[in-house]
Amino acid sequence: MQKCGVAAAERTQPSAARLVEPVPDALGPSYLGVIPRMAYSNWSNPGNSRFSALMGALLLSSALLVACGGDEDAASEAGAADTAAVADSAGAGGGAALSADDEGPKSGLSPNELGEILVLEYHRTGEPEGEFVRKAANFQKDLDSLYAAGFRPVTMRQVLEGDIDIPAGTSPVVFTIDDASRGQFYYRPDGSIDPNTMAGMWDAFAKKNPGWRNGAVWCVLPAAAHPSNFFGETPDRETPREQREATIKKKVDYLVQNRHEICNHTLYHARLDQASSDAQAQEWIGRGEDSIKVYLPADYDIVTFALPLGMWPKTRSLAWKGTWPGRAGQNRAVNYEYGAVLEVSGDANPSPFDVEFDPRSVDRFIVGPGRLERQLAAYRTNGANRYVSDGDPNVISVPQSLATRVDRNRWKGKEVKVVQGAAPAAKDSAAR
Ligand SMILES: [Zn+2]
Repeated sequence: MQKCGVAAAERTQPSAARLVEPVPDALGPSYLGVIPRMAYSNWSNPGNSRFSALMGALLLSSALLVACGGDEDAASEAGAADTAAVADSAGAGGGAALSADDEGPKSGLSPNELGEILVLEYHRTGEPEGEFVRKAANFQKDLDSLYAAGFRPVTMRQVLEGDIDIPAGTSPVVFTIDDASRGQFYYRPDGSIDPNTMAGMWDAFAKKNPGWRNGAVWCVLPAAAHPSNFFGETPDRETPREQREATIKKKVDYLVQNRHEICNHTLYHARLDQASSDAQAQEWIGRGEDSIKVYLPADYDIVTFALPLGMWPKTRSLAWKGTWPGRAGQNRAVNYEYGAVLEVSGDANPSPFDVEFDPRSVDRFIVGPGRLERQLAAYRTNGANRYVSDGDPNVISVPQSLATRVDRNRWKGKEVKVVQGAAPAAKDSAAR
C-alpha cells in the first residue's frame, strides 16, 4: 500500500549550496529535500563507465524519483546479509553456544516459535519525528527497550533460512533500514563511524551487549538523489571518484563483516507500478542489483528486495525474479532472484515456520511516533503472540494449540517439539 510519495520533479530545485551538506548530526530539515537527479548533470566523472552508466540511467529515465514522508530524500535501501553470520550459526548447533555470551535480559516466556515476528521499518533519523523520520535518540531508545524486553536482531536472510539463532527466552526482531541516506551511516574524517548515525549507535550497542550479535537489513539505493545514494556518498568536485568508491566499499564491507544484510531497493526508488513495461521494471531492479553488487563480495547473494513505496510491478513475480539484459555492449545479463519481498507497511508477520508465512509479501511495522512503544507495552501485557525462541535453531518448539500450523513441508530438516505454554489468546498483535 502506498504510504508516501512525492515526485522529485515536483520539488523545487535546490541551490548548489545544499549539495555540500554538514555532518549528519547537524542536519536540519532542509537536508531532507530531494535533490532532483538533474543536479548531477553538471558533475563530470570521466573514465568511470559504471558510474557514467548509472548516472546516464538516472538522467534519462523519467522523473520517478520519489521520497517517503515528504521530507525524505528518495533513497536506496540496502540490507547487508551477513554470510559470515549464517556460516557461524550453521555450525553453532544449538542454544548453549548461542547464549554463552548473552547475559542480556530474556522474556521469561515459554518457547513459541509459531509466534509473530516484527519486521521494523526505519528510514532516516531527524526531527520532527514522523512516519518516516525517527529521532536519533529514539532509535537508540528502540535498541535499549527491545533488548530489555528480550528481543534480539536477526536478518531477513536468517528468517528465510529458519536460522533464528537467538537464546532461549528471547524473541527475534528484524530491523530494516531503507533508502541509504547519509545520516544512517557516516565515516568521520578520523575513520570512525559517526556515533550519531544509525550504524554508529548500532555498533556501540553491539559492542556493549554481546547478545546483540546479528545485524540489520539495509535496503539501499545506489543512485537516488542525494543524500540517498549509498549513505550519501555523492559524487562532488572535491571528492575524487576513487575516494568516494572506496568509502562506499568500506561501508559495505563493514556491514557484511558485522552480520548485517544488504537488500536491494532498486537503482533509484522508481515506482514499479509505473514502469512502462515488464522490461523496464526488470531494468530498475536489475540495475539496482548490479550496482550494489559492485561493492559486495563476489559470492554474496542478495536475498531481500524492498518495494519502493510498496508498489508492485504489473507482473507481480518480477519483484522477486527477473532478468535485465545488462548494459549495451557488455553482453552480461543480470539475473536476480529474491527470497523475501518487503512491503512498506503492515503489522507483525507470521513466523517463518507458520504455513501462513509469505516471504514474497513481508509486512513491515513502520516505527512511527509512539507505535513501537505501544507494541512493546502490549507484549508486556500479553506475550502469548510473540515468537519466543527455544534456543535451538534446529528445533521448532510450539504450543500444542499451534502444532498443526507448522509448515512441515518447508522445514523438513527441523524437529518439531510440542511444549507446554500458554496458547495465544488472539491471533493478532495487540497494538496497532
Ligand atoms: Zn524507500
